[in-house]
Amino acid sequence: MSSYKLLLLPGDGIGPEVMGEVKKVIAWFNVHGIAHFETETGLVGGAAYDAHGEAISDADMDLAQGSDAVIFGAVGGPRWDDVPYDKRPEAGLLRLRKDMALYANLRPAIVYPALADASSLKRPLVEGLDLLILRELTGGVYFGQPKEITDLGNGQKRAVDTQVYDTYEIDRIARIAFELARTRRNQVCSMEKHNVMKSGVLWKEVVIATHKDGFQDVQLSHMLADAGGMQLVRNPKQFDVIVTDNLFGDILSDVAAMLTGSLGMLPSASLGAADAKTGRRKALYEPVHGSAPDIAVKGLANPIAMIASFAMALRYSFGMVEWADKVDTAIAATLGKGFRTGDIMQAGMNQVGTAEMGDAVLAQLQAAG
Ligand code: NAD
Repeated sequence: MSSYKLLLLPGDGIGPEVMGEVKKVIAWFNVHGIAHFETETGLVGGAAYDAHGEAISDADMDLAQGSDAVIFGAVGGPRWDDVPYDKRPEAGLLRLRKDMALYANLRPAIVYPALADASSLKRPLVEGLDLLILRELTGGVYFGQPKEITDLGNGQKRAVDTQVYDTYEIDRIARIAFELARTRRNQVCSMEKHNVMKSGVLWKEVVIATHKDGFQDVQLSHMLADAGGMQLVRNPKQFDVIVTDNLFGDILSDVAAMLTGSLGMLPSASLGAADAKTGRRKALYEPVHGSAPDIAVKGLANPIAMIASFAMALRYSFGMVEWADKVDTAIAATLGKGFRTGDIMQAGMNQVGTAEMGDAVLAQLQAAG
């Protein structure tokens, strides 16, 4: 039986509540001898600041670096609004991404049949939707230098951000896109703006070159990012894997998120380079939502995004694709049986809290497993 090390970082607000439901799923896998997950728990965000005066301690960073996957809840809350900028809760997540060099952000947008009416688009447009946005996470305009505001001395200021990409950054994310597409419907759509941006010209050129380097079995198309945004709301089911840069990915993944209806349903993964010996990538899995202080400690949070994030870990870190599918199917079946947390509640359905939703998913998994 394979054995894996997980670092659990529940964080703040609803983070620990939704993490509690993933712990039940992890325990289930261990008890049934499907895999052995060894877990350690650390502090991140406001919880870490309260304990150590930092958004994540060096000791927890070491645990993260030594783990096979980090399972992250959520950070932040009004309690920490006034802490120094470099110690704010989000700094913990940013340090994890930076120090673990997590350059590929995967955000699936899946519309479960039972929730198709929760989307802002009409049911036929989104029912059965299953697309994956792959966003470059460590380069581009959010990090490029110079990045400054200068005083021009004439009552005017000038703000500069720099969009910069090197060949290797585009090549490595394109490779992940093609590899992921092979596990899905084998299509990649690359989005940039080569019509007005030099970084877009290079992006397209490198994606084409990488495609020729051993990925020609994957169907590759290109779209300008603005047209891509339009197509995402016009006909989202045309897409399988979308690969794009940091800025466009930030925007397009939020657009795709809303196709699915609720923040409480959206998982994500961030992957780094593959280890030369084991082939395993550094990885962090987290729900897209934040710490939801408005509903924290009330047992109201939807744990599905967190559980689905663990399913992504099974799929992308541990090669347990069949089990990842079973967890996803258990989520769909739970929704199909009418279980709803408050955020996705619909007339005539059975409103439950965090723990009941977690238990219901586990019961479906038990039935399937
Ligand atoms: P949020 O995602 O925490 O909440 C937005 C809304 O969605 C709220 O009404 C909340 O109740 C609801 N919601 C979110 N997740 C839910 C769930 N699982 N179940 C049910 N309802 C859910 O975003 P926000 O309110 O803008 O931010 C709150 C705090 O979280 C802030 O401190 C922010 O900085 C932080 N934040 C952290 C992350 C992260 O940890 N990755 C991401 C976004 C925001």
